[in-house]
Amino acid sequence: MHHTFQSLITPPEGFDGQPGLWFCVGRNTILVSPTEEGLWPIEAVHPRDLGIEVGHEHFLGFLDGKPCWAAGLDDVINEIGEYRPETLFSLFPNVDEELWTLAGRAVQIAEWHRTNRFCGRCGTPTVESAGERARKCPECGLLAFPRLSPAVITLIERGDEALLGRGRTFGANPMYSTLAGFVEPGETIEEAVAREVREEVGVEVTDIRYMRSQPWPFPNSLMLGFNAKWASGDIEIDPVEIVDAQWFKADNLPNIPGKMSIARWLIDEWLSRQS
Ligand SMILES: [Zn+2]
Repeated sequence: MHHTFQSLITPPEGFDGQPGLWFCVGRNTILVSPTEEGLWPIEAVHPRDLGIEVGHEHFLGFLDGKPCWAAGLDDVINEIGEYRPETLFSLFPNVDEELWTLAGRAVQIAEWHRTNRFCGRCGTPTVESAGERARKCPECGLLAFPRLSPAVITLIERGDEALLGRGRTFGANPMYSTLAGFVEPGETIEEAVAREVREEVGVEVTDIRYMRSQPWPFPNSLMLGFNAKWASGDIEIDPVEIVDAQWFKADNLPNIPGKMSIARWLIDEWLSRQS
């Protein structure tokens, strides 16, 4: 099913409090219930109608014409009626991509509110800043916006091979993926690609091409996907970040990330160009 989402910070004028979708966020979980469409957030005029206490609420916009809200819960809720808490990780394979992205947005906005109750510079309690998604310090004026951490993720190709690495964080099920790392202050995203690749596997790349992006709410990354061509150098891994990295051909791929991840999209895009 294809959804249309329109992002807004405040409800439009004349908004009458019609039933909407409530992404009720308790720490890193969201309350959802099973429906015919799959797992679905709370649909109500307000969660208090279901006996759920909301600490703070944030208008997100409209999904297929339905108002959407992120609500931060003060208490950790285990289960209420048909609703049960799921993490973004556990939701990932069980909802479609647009709903999952919206759930990630809700979690990040609720978490941003929870972590910016006081000014980071002078400690004064912050207030809502009118007309923008920001917390403002009434004392010194410091603004705190929801934080985004841009990260680059790159598929490197050499002839009919792609370079994939096995990171330290993949756990028990070893998986090879494209190389990723955070953008540093003061560098362009292309410079970040070249630096990350050099640091992690010791090769130089050229023809760095932006492909697409994906919000990745763990906790607030924005993944910027690239394709790059190998220029020079043999693989020499950074053992702090990488366990192994190799050149793979299309007919000899290792275990790779699942659908919906940008890493998989980059690998599939490369595969589609191999004969
Ligand atoms: Zn301040």
